[in-house]
Amino acid sequence: EESTVVIPEGIRWNEDGLIPAIVQDVNTQKVLMLAYMNEEALRLTLKENRAWYYSRSRQSLWLKGETSGNIQQVMELRFDCDQDAILLTVQQKGVACHEDYYSCFHYAAQGREFVPLGEPKVIPPLPLGRTLELLAEVIHSRNLERPEGAYTTYLFEKGIDKILKKVGEESAETIIAAKNSSVEEIRYEVSDLFYHLLVLLEERGVTLQEISQELLARKK
Ligand code: AMP
Ligand code: ZN
Ligand code: ZN
Repeated sequence: EESTVVIPEGIRWNEDGLIPAIVQDVNTQKVLMLAYMNEEALRLTLKENRAWYYSRSRQSLWLKGETSGNIQQVMELRFDCDQDAILLTVQQKGVACHEDYYSCFHYAAQGREFVPLGEPKVIPPLPLGRTLELLAEVIHSRNLERPEGAYTTYLFEKGIDKILKKVGEESAETIIAAKNSSVEEIRYEVSDLFYHLLVLLEERGVTLQEISQELLARKK
């Protein structure tokens, strides 16, 4: 297949003309699978921003998701220090493993046997820290772009006093919810509080990384 994408000359292909690619989920940062690319697979991957591999068992090019629909959109492709391995960071459609698990790494060694680890069959929910980061990014872009009709835009236009008032209100509502001890209410009000705290941090120019550092610095 003809292709115009140029690739580095210094790639250290193995004796079979292949390079291993470690595949990582962009959202959870988890390792999804390991597969091999030949030159054409790498060219196609760079050209289409979808992961192509070389199947050693079938001895042919393989578009991940071609039959299953579980396409991997490539968000980043990088090489390691000695250029003999690739790291693909992907947005995974469905699941990565053809045994229908989110990640291929779902076996433990137990003596002579492999035992299934009970890996999730669906994409696991994001860790809270990552969710807050993604939400903070959305809030940041609302602040820059101020799209009409967005509640976040409204808060930024009203200014710091309005934002502080909302943080106060949501704190009070969290307290009331916790007193009434309905789990659903606590979940709802704490989510409201987190959101408004993120708006407050954006308005004051404080990053989540700074909060993270402060919390970690307290750890004994
Ligand atoms: P897919 O690319 O998801 O449409 O799957 C097509 C075929 O590729 C499967 O039947 C497997 O032979 C192979 N395959 C898919 N995903 C993996 C994987 N994560 N590791 C190894 N082989 C895979
Ligand atoms: Zn290496
Ligand atoms: Zn697998």
